[in-house]
Amino acid sequence: MKERIYLISLGCAKNLVDSEHMLGILNQRGYSVVSDLEEADLAIVNTCGFIQSAAEEAIETILRVAEKKAAGYLKNLVVAGCLVQRYGLKLRKHIPEVDAWLGPGEIAKIADIADSVTRGQGQEAPIHLGRPLFLADHRTPRLYGTPFYSGYLKIAEGCSHRCSFCTIPSLRGPYRSRKIDSLVMETESMVEGGVKEINLIAQDTTMYGRDLGEGYGLEDLLEEMLRVKHISWIRLLYCHPQGVTDRLLDLLDGDNAVCPYLDVPFQHVNREILRRMGREPARQDPRQLVERIKTRTRNVSLRTTLMVGFPGETQEIFQELCDFVSQGYFDHVGAFVYSPEKGTMAARMKDKVEADVARERLDILMRIQADISLKKNREMIGNVIPVLNEGVHPETDLLLRGRSQRMAPDVDSHVIMNAGEGPIGDIVQVRVTDAHEYDLIGEILQVLLL
Ligand code: SF4
Repeated sequence: MKERIYLISLGCAKNLVDSEHMLGILNQRGYSVVSDLEEADLAIVNTCGFIQSAAEEAIETILRVAEKKAAGYLKNLVVAGCLVQRYGLKLRKHIPEVDAWLGPGEIAKIADIADSVTRGQGQEAPIHLGRPLFLADHRTPRLYGTPFYSGYLKIAEGCSHRCSFCTIPSLRGPYRSRKIDSLVMETESMVEGGVKEINLIAQDTTMYGRDLGEGYGLEDLLEEMLRVKHISWIRLLYCHPQGVTDRLLDLLDGDNAVCPYLDVPFQHVNREILRRMGREPARQDPRQLVERIKTRTRNVSLRTTLMVGFPGETQEIFQELCDFVSQGYFDHVGAFVYSPEKGTMAARMKDKVEADVARERLDILMRIQADISLKKNREMIGNVIPVLNEGVHPETDLLLRGRSQRMAPDVDSHVIMNAGEGPIGDIVQVRVTDAHEYDLIGEILQVLLL
């Protein structure tokens, strides 16, 4: 009987998919997976490290698990992911409880590494830092960490953009698309396994296919996925603003299985800041793109990510960002204070913004969006909408909770259902009866047979 594994996945959904592959590979090798650290023999921490705060969270988590190992609860500890690619060589000297380190390009070796540490190699912990070129396909074993009705489909790895603030290309390598056939096969097996909602992810989903030179792109992938029998919802996340084509918007308009949802991380609206960020503002102004999206037939739910306090952001420029958000284009906004990351171009830029000024700007921006969100939610009262039932609300024990097509998992708000019933993982018809700043309240009318 092989050892029992407990895995902690930090960071974004892209990292979660890596964690799912590691668990699948280990499971295939005979390791069992447990849901409680105290029951495990070997713990794996799959880290994020693309900004300083994520790296700090990862180190705190590693130290917490290392304490458990030192206290005898665990036999082995392995650390994986972006933090290792970025700081692994330095950290190895300071955290001797870790038995092995591996970067994101070494995922395929996880079972060999687990075999080796559980045998006890008795020397300095090895660090596996190959070029980050790992690319899974439909045959790569995977144990889902998401609920049975929802899953992520990572359509590409890496990034070939060069945003001046970002460390991802150096940590994850160049953009590598998966083959379309492989993605369609994985979609089929997800749908057969009961997944109702497939969320497409990559560092930039709109770049999909361009590196393959085979003449297909994201739009072709979507068309192929829509041919899969019994597919319910497909949602697009991480769309670079420069890659949102009219053909893509036609697909959003033309098929109810494609969620009326786009996640477009604009980062900013000011032309000079976007130029400094290396985000090609000359090709299309963000205001023009949101107008193009919002004048479509279907009312697309728009999520964006914005950064405040980037070098050169004056009060006047920040006001331009506030004015952009005040237009009410966005249904969901994730805003962050700029974090200067060592090794990036932006970290060397002049005209830095004081940290307390940047934090204040963040609060102002989020307050603007909170009012918009409440107004948009109130407009929904009385509407009947399909909702993916996620079961009992973890904070109430009584009410049910779910998400509409306009709400992505993990990052957006919910529909809280206080009347009616429906099986978990089914899509139910809900009448919206009330609205909060972020969540909607509603009652289940019936289960939809899709
Ligand atoms: S698109 Fe820009 S911000 Fe996003 S991962 Fe690539 S380099 Fe980083």
